[in-house]
Amino acid sequence: MQRLAVAFFAATMALSGCERSAEVLTTDAATVHARALTLDTHLDTPLMLSRTGWNFLDRHDPATLSHVDWPRIRAGELDAGFWAVFVDQAELTPDGLAAAAAEADRVFSSIHALIAEHPDKLVLATTPAAVRTAVDAGKHAVLIGVENGYALGGQLDNVQRYYDRGARYIGLLHSSNNDLGDSSTDKEGPLHGGLSEFGREVVREMNRLGIMVDVSHAADSTFWDILEVTTAPPIASHSSARAVHDHPRNLSDDMLQALAERGGVVQVNALSNYVAALDVSPERQAALAEMGRELASMSGGRRANRDRFWAALIDINERYPPPLATLSELVDHIDHLVAVMGIDHVGVGADFDGGGGVDGMYDVSEIGNLTQELLKRGYTEADIQKIWSGNLLRVMAEVQRAAR
Ligand SMILES: [Zn+2]
Repeated sequence: MQRLAVAFFAATMALSGCERSAEVLTTDAATVHARALTLDTHLDTPLMLSRTGWNFLDRHDPATLSHVDWPRIRAGELDAGFWAVFVDQAELTPDGLAAAAAEADRVFSSIHALIAEHPDKLVLATTPAAVRTAVDAGKHAVLIGVENGYALGGQLDNVQRYYDRGARYIGLLHSSNNDLGDSSTDKEGPLHGGLSEFGREVVREMNRLGIMVDVSHAADSTFWDILEVTTAPPIASHSSARAVHDHPRNLSDDMLQALAERGGVVQVNALSNYVAALDVSPERQAALAEMGRELASMSGGRRANRDRFWAALIDINERYPPPLATLSELVDHIDHLVAVMGIDHVGVGADFDGGGGVDGMYDVSEIGNLTQELLKRGYTEADIQKIWSGNLLRVMAEVQRAAR
């Protein structure tokens, strides 16, 4: 990263006179943002597709826990995104696994149906070249990433099946240990001590097909096992830096260095709780715990009761507003990732619709503020283009080349 802030400010002042420099900075950031191909590697927007009363073409109030829709994709100029086929985890039993694979199929179909409904706005992209073609045609490129290897239903064949349905990364883990390996946040502690034998087979199959291996949500032990097994560069689709905020979902400097050495990327996560230490009131903590217990006791768990989950969370947020990290704190993570890994290994996976959002970039309509903050901190336009998509698309191309 080159520090050109001084030259940048001097240039804007020379153009405009001192009193208008702030406005010129904003305009210039808007130009840089518009010229960049913006890509976010983790949108949980497919969760919204079955939500009662939610419509892709409507602009929603972020207070309703919706962060991405067509009007806001346009307002924020998000050119491309990995839409997550996320499956909530339940029991590691044959029935639980079969239900997970069925749920994944349903989510794939809902994404394909949305694209088919809006061919003038959306296009499925499975290669970097297809992403660029879609964006040149003025469309939003929808890429697909699977979140939680539990969604494979324990069937190795499903890796190929999901590839055929468009998946180009699979996050092996989510919040709990699954049949592929251990999670960074399972309250019960380790189950396998890293990747399971099935998890190793899945990584090899992903390498064979050209699907990016995503380490986000993996326990440290699983992370190191993944790096040992994969022959292609791995990614962290939505993770930040543990040295900036010590959270098990974030990555240590050793892990960041190892990912950079393997040619991978880390896509910074805007979920406030992972960005900074937040003061959550005891009342809010108690209300969230109570909601969790209620949902767990309902038949079908959270997966079958999402409308009730959203209603309860909106109500809790009104009564006890959630504390938020700031955009500046988020960019502190980017600064650290760049310092440890270099400019060629950092990107953005904001986790919108999955809890992501900071003060200043709370939904997709506000992602231009990130470009502005990066410019303010001295990142060049070339740096910013790498962060917004260049690095990720390079890795995606490399993973696909390695498969051939
Ligand atoms: Zn996640």
